[in-house]
Amino acid sequence: MFNESPKCRVCGKEIEGGEPVQLEMRYPKSRGFAEVKAYLKLEAQFTCDACAKKKH
Ligand SMILES: [Zn+2]
Repeated sequence: MFNESPKCRVCGKEIEGGEPVQLEMRYPKSRGFAEVKAYLKLEAQFTCDACAKKKH
């Protein structure tokens, strides 16, 4: 789904395959699936599990 490795927006660590992540994004206005995929690449921000648990 992603050509580039996504990185954690908090610590910058590369997200590894199979690793649980939190995903933050605004819901897209357009509903076409192809557009949603492009949108995810631009807008999605991941937080790795360790940083997600550090918050709060
Ligand atoms: Zn992190």
